[in-house]
Amino acid sequence: IGVLGSGDFARSLAIRLVCSGFKVVVGSRNPKRKAGLFPSAAEVTFQAEAVKKTDVIFVAVFREHYSTLCDLADVLAGKILVDVSNNTEINHHKESNAEYLASLFPSCTVVKGFNVISAWTLQSGARDGNKQVLICSNNQEAKRTVAEIAQAMGFTPVDMGCLSSACEIENIPLRLLPAWKIPIFLALGLFLCFFTYNLVRQVIHPYIREQKNKFYKIPIEVVNTTLPCVAYVMLSLVYLPGILAACSQLYYGTKYRRFPDWLDQWLQHRKQIGLLSFFCAALHAVYSLCLPMRRSHRYQLIETAIKQAVEKKMTIWVEEEVWRMEIYISVGIIALGLLSLLAITSLPSIANSLNWREFSFVQSTLGFIALLISTLHTLTYGWSRAFDENQYKFYLPPTYTLTLLVPCTVILAKVIFTLPCIHQRLLRIRRGWEKGRYVKFVLPSATGEYSSGETSSNV
Ligand code: NAP
Repeated sequence: IGVLGSGDFARSLAIRLVCSGFKVVVGSRNPKRKAGLFPSAAEVTFQAEAVKKTDVIFVAVFREHYSTLCDLADVLAGKILVDVSNNTEINHHKESNAEYLASLFPSCTVVKGFNVISAWTLQSGARDGNKQVLICSNNQEAKRTVAEIAQAMGFTPVDMGCLSSACEIENIPLRLLPAWKIPIFLALGLFLCFFTYNLVRQVIHPYIREQKNKFYKIPIEVVNTTLPCVAYVMLSLVYLPGILAACSQLYYGTKYRRFPDWLDQWLQHRKQIGLLSFFCAALHAVYSLCLPMRRSHRYQLIETAIKQAVEKKMTIWVEEEVWRMEIYISVGIIALGLLSLLAITSLPSIANSLNWREFSFVQSTLGFIALLISTLHTLTYGWSRAFDENQYKFYLPPTYTLTLLVPCTVILAKVIFTLPCIHQRLLRIRRGWEKGRYVKFVLPSATGEYSSGETSSNV
């Protein structure tokens, strides 16, 4: 195998190829200076020499320098060139780097591949990094050859079709969390709304009404009342699009009608929304554990003790409060445990080891149970506060009552969908039945010949 270039990528590639049993010849403009950087098993020579000795050549050179290789056009004729290059911006050039390389060397066969693998992954071996190598070319034979090399190196080749797919492959390493943008904005939006609401209730209200300075609550207490609200609402938003999709299917009586784009997008982002819900719930758990460590908390405890001593009270134990707290903490821990399970099973390596039924049991059934338990956690936390008029700061209801809206709607809808008349209809629709669909039938006539007609499947 030939490698043109002696940079980071070329070096890692040469090491990996040598380790995988290939004979490697590196082509450099300055072989003497670069030879020491490569394993002794790899031959480092001039570019033309390396090209002459090999049939498959990895071009580990930046696109800007492709034209400097034009002197090698004659020796490169008939060889397979593997374009591993990346750009610095999405759709940076009109044509992909691989197509540009192919236009410079029309007598060569160009294969795009390995650009999604970093030099680090190449060095550390396929086990530690991304395993997929996306490959495309207009020549099937060349594509197969490169795929075999990738496989021998421990990677999983993925055929992406013709060289026109190179642009798409080159954009992959440049995308920044494409599937996470909408869920992250959603989480940030919810966080901002709930944070402002809690700030008004917990800090601004006492400041305006009682001239009490409670701004110290902002970094921990206000954040800690905001995080569970975001986690809980986000969890319900994982299940809401499924409910809307079912409503649409029931309304139109078919599963073949396309959902609106926004619903489609929402359905596709459920995993990320769920993971962000878990992230917020985990942060909430950590913040809650830190609550008693704060100095403000210690001062409040001492103040309560002093007040009690002055008033000569022997105990401040409130049985109902004790039970409420015991229950909501216990239920909260269970909810967090279930959310962790959902998060773990959504990781590709774990999800791939589950069959469809196991995956849907965890994500659908256990996920819904997590939503139910989170609702129980919220209700026991709120207890009777919704009925206490002192809790309505600036006429604003306690935050937990607001968070209950979407999850309770989802739970109610789920319960309605389990009613046999609705469940059966939904099941039939999902198996392909359609409302008002006409089906062809064929009947033998009295003469023994067959006549055809149409009837509604409803009939
Ligand atoms: P690099 O360290 O800068 O190496 C580039 C090499 O190109 C140089 O060492 C040089 O080797 C050779 N070269 C040939 N003609 C040249 C010229 N006219 N001017 C300058 N250099 C010339 O870059 P790299 O990180 O190895 O990346 C090489 C290619 O791999 C790029 O297309 C990059 O997009 C792609 N890639 C890199 C990574 C990565 O993790 N680094 C990952 C995926 C893809 P000689 O001096 O020996 O000729």
